[in-house]
Amino acid sequence: MAYDKIVVPQNGERITVREGSLHVPDHPILLYVEGDGIGPDITHASMRIWDAAVQKAYGGQRKVAWAEIYAGEKANALYGTYFPDETLDAIREFYVGIKGPLTTPVGGGFRSLNVALRQELDLYACVRPVRWFPNVPSPLRAPEKVDVVIFRENTEDVYAGIEYMAGTPENEKLARFLREEMGARFFEGAGLGIKPISAFGTKRLVRKAIQYAIDNQRKSVTFVHKGNIQKFTEGAFRNWGYEVAAQEFADFTITEDALWKEPHNGRVPPGKIVVKDRIADIMFQMMLLRPDEFDVIATPNLNGDYLSDAVAAEVGGVGIAPGSNIGDYMAVFEATHGTAPKYAGLDKVNPGSLLLSGVMMLDYIGWKEAGKAIIDAYIRTVEQKIVTYDFARQMQGATEVKTSEFASAVIANL
Ligand code: NAP
Repeated sequence: MAYDKIVVPQNGERITVREGSLHVPDHPILLYVEGDGIGPDITHASMRIWDAAVQKAYGGQRKVAWAEIYAGEKANALYGTYFPDETLDAIREFYVGIKGPLTTPVGGGFRSLNVALRQELDLYACVRPVRWFPNVPSPLRAPEKVDVVIFRENTEDVYAGIEYMAGTPENEKLARFLREEMGARFFEGAGLGIKPISAFGTKRLVRKAIQYAIDNQRKSVTFVHKGNIQKFTEGAFRNWGYEVAAQEFADFTITEDALWKEPHNGRVPPGKIVVKDRIADIMFQMMLLRPDEFDVIATPNLNGDYLSDAVAAEVGGVGIAPGSNIGDYMAVFEATHGTAPKYAGLDKVNPGSLLLSGVMMLDYIGWKEAGKAIIDAYIRTVEQKIVTYDFARQMQGATEVKTSEFASAVIANL
């Protein structure tokens, strides 16, 4: 495909999909969006580390061919729009990319670029691993007990954007229908929102979560829902989740109910993953008090939004929490924090979130050795108390360094 502003690297090769799986050449074209605000600082720093780790792990046999694509302010300057069509075309063609944070004006302006990206490309699973790294400041007494991977549904729930403003003709029409034909009762002048949760949307998310648990030897998958109150949406999510486990993964899973009955009596049969569910509000307490009871988590959109930031806060905050949005094959990895505009261009912030999202990306394309090299070097660097300002202010005796200096320290530790 011909692009207007995107330069496809000549030395790179396309990732392809054959027989239902991703095929990654030795010089794959990977896409990146610098992002707004602090985006360029953390992107440049992280890219140096990703490249150095790949070089270290594969001695020049493998190398990423980076192609810059555009969204946000840089896109607006180049194309006169914040979200050019060819950015989407490039992701459809090359499958895998990583992005820095993008500005979303509050209350009006354009809709969130992040939400648009997920919806346009049907990146239905927002996957966020949350674990503690030694020496990273945490408010918990035993942060090492936190090691979960949250699969948040990305396309449904109240996030689907089906909302009608109070006072509009659409709102009044819907209110009349709900009252007169469905017998619903609610206050006059209420804004109305619809919360669709489907078997299709739930099952493809849960399928991904269980498959991940199998592929990565995880112990359990927990459905987090509010099904006690919202029975036909959140409750249905839970039921459909169990259906996927029973119908598609019977050889690999056991439900918590079955586990505590004869003949198992609480002993997990070898090779089985425990499938269980928890109501969302108690889950927040449990993730603080007994986080080691949880492993892979699958949850609808809004629960997942709250839960992933809350759990990230237990182990160092969104400054180091990685994230990704994954569809059937396409995947966009991303920093989970925003653009932190007051620090833009100061070479100051923590690149950890984007850096570790890049580790997820390397894992996703099967370059696990490079990802592991980065994790080890990252742990060593923080152990040496070489950190950016955000960690330095919470650590005794830390050496505060700039974003780029932190990258150099990690590279030295590779
Ligand atoms: P934010 O940019 O995440 O910044 C909030 C605070 O978090 C910062 O002031 C800073 O705390 C800390 N922080 C964020 N990134 C950090 C990093 N890499 N290292 C260290 N500390 C970091 O949130 P916001 O101010 O609410 O949002 C700003 C803009 O970003 C908005 O336009 C919002 O819509 C957008 N946003 C984009 C995304 C995305 O693209 N995925 C996500 C969230 C928000 P201190 O002030 O304490 O140092």
